[in-house]
Amino acid sequence: MTNKVESYQYQAEIKKVLDVVIHSIYTNKDIFIRELISNAADALEKFRHISLTEKDIIEKDLSLNIKIELNKKAKTFTISDTGIGMTKDELIENLGTVAHSGSKEFLEKLAENKENAAKLIGQFGLGFYSAFMVSQKVRVISRSYKKNSKGYIWTSDGMNNYTISQEEGIKRGTRIVVDLKKEYEKYAEEDNVKNIIKEYSNFVSSPIFIDEKRINTVQAIWVKNPNEVKDKEYNEFYKFLTNSPSEPFYHLHTSSDAPIQMKTILFFPKENMEIFGFNRMEPGINLYCNKILIESKVKEILPDYLRFVKGVVDSEDLPLNISRETLQDNLIISKIKKFLTKRVISFLNDNAQKDEKKYLDFWKAFASFIKEGINSDFENREKLAKLLRFETSKTKENELTSFDEYLKRAKKDQKEIYFLSGKNRQEIENSPYLETFIASDIEVIYLYEAIDDFTMSALSNYDKKELSSADKSDIKVPKKESEKKESEKSIENFEKLTKWMEKLFEKDLEKVVLSDRLVNSPAIIVNPDDKMTTNMQKILKDAKGDVFPTGKKILEINPEHTLIKKISKLVDSKKDEKLIIQIAEQIYDNALFNAGMDLDKSKMVKRMNDILEQALKSK
Ligand code: ADP
Ligand code: MG
Repeated sequence: MTNKVESYQYQAEIKKVLDVVIHSIYTNKDIFIRELISNAADALEKFRHISLTEKDIIEKDLSLNIKIELNKKAKTFTISDTGIGMTKDELIENLGTVAHSGSKEFLEKLAENKENAAKLIGQFGLGFYSAFMVSQKVRVISRSYKKNSKGYIWTSDGMNNYTISQEEGIKRGTRIVVDLKKEYEKYAEEDNVKNIIKEYSNFVSSPIFIDEKRINTVQAIWVKNPNEVKDKEYNEFYKFLTNSPSEPFYHLHTSSDAPIQMKTILFFPKENMEIFGFNRMEPGINLYCNKILIESKVKEILPDYLRFVKGVVDSEDLPLNISRETLQDNLIISKIKKFLTKRVISFLNDNAQKDEKKYLDFWKAFASFIKEGINSDFENREKLAKLLRFETSKTKENELTSFDEYLKRAKKDQKEIYFLSGKNRQEIENSPYLETFIASDIEVIYLYEAIDDFTMSALSNYDKKELSSADKSDIKVPKKESEKKESEKSIENFEKLTKWMEKLFEKDLEKVVLSDRLVNSPAIIVNPDDKMTTNMQKILKDAKGDVFPTGKKILEINPEHTLIKKISKLVDSKKDEKLIIQIAEQIYDNALFNAGMDLDKSKMVKRMNDILEQALKSK
């Protein structure tokens, strides 16, 4: 009696992926073994977990392992596991559709760089298809752990369709038969396959056998004493955990007894994949209880901003049957989170102390995560702030410094830490806001990223020193005595001018005042809001449009500047009114421009031309 064979079409995106995989120029095809083993190991972990909590399970006593059979004559590579298996629906869903995979992203990456993307196929949830790199026919024979389940054979040549038929006498789990293409015979050779397993899959937590011989050394290196673990083992373990070809940047291996008993290995990657345009990173911590995997990629173990940290947390205090849903409310988990978060931050601070140069490489890749932390993790803000690095008015380009270094250099009586935002170093250094600080030899931190102003505002102070934007209104930069007296004297002389300008700009300005901070510029806009910098208001306005009103600003004018002195006289004498208004408006627009604020450009150009014409009239 033959069973009915049903034929199904792959989803269009899967077809594209397969086409690329089959015609991949990628030379190292070994990874298909890693991917199939990784799927088998996942299926076994899932089974272990399910068997602790569910009753209706078939063949409960099958021993949990992965078996590989190699047949040189038939040119087959066969891998079997006794894991959860798949129902017919699951075969269709998991092997024929893009339900959970990042196939689109994968295809994009592939278009950019074939070599790299092919290596990373597992990270996109497409690992299974790598079998088609070496084969024109793959059979998946599977039976689910669920009561009354039936066995099925899934077959495909990796082209347009696949078939499924029911079959009797199949054991629980999954068996995948890969018919090797002639040129890939080497994947039926024991020594070769053994070496590949040693390289990629040595840490798989289930035993792997080739033709009855045990290959991998199942070892939970996190339970070992850190002195006994070699760097090479950490590196291999990291590569295994993350499917990544590179080594970790830092690792932290600790055990603790209080407040929670736990053993931990945490890895800090070299590269920030989010910068490279990959999607948001998934959380990277696998949770174990006594070497049994409870859940992988658990988001409750570290705060979201530390999602780049990868590793393992093993605690005997955890209940084995904890579920994804209950992780969130679990008291032990929240204690682990609190403890580990502090540990990660102090680890980074220690490493910065030990080797600042190395730390800076980490900082360059992961700065945005630390800033995210300052904006979201109130409890650890101060410690995170220690990790920040900036350029300043006293560093060279690309030379970075910390708050602590800044404070070491600060003036004795300096009560604030100053910062200024701009697109780049040049823009900030040309800014009139910087003049007074340079003149008084006070260091200013330069900020280039949109998030930076928000970070400073979230922090609000560091080591009891207020963080102040250099464009805020009530800046008190220490001045020499002689300068002070002169500025007091001039207030009366300019009263008419300030009143006149206030009237002229009454719609937009809160007031016009005499500046004691300007050196070379006639005027600047300053911000009376001590919570939101002008830059923040700008960013929010850009994002929200006119619904976000920016607060009224203050115009500071420089009584020492020839331009201001002259129009002051002209206002007094009430001569040339049209020209004075145009000049005042231009001074105001220039100040808006320097503050990076919106101004009416067409109006400005017309006015400028008028002014130029007047300037040449007497010539
Ligand atoms: P990923 O493992 O990242 O999900 P794969 O392409 O490797 O992506 O596998 C797709 C899906 O197929 C898996 O998520 C799993 O549900 C199913 N699968 C693959 N191999 C097995 C197996 N040996 N046992 C049970 N399910 C499997
Ligand atoms: Mg996989």
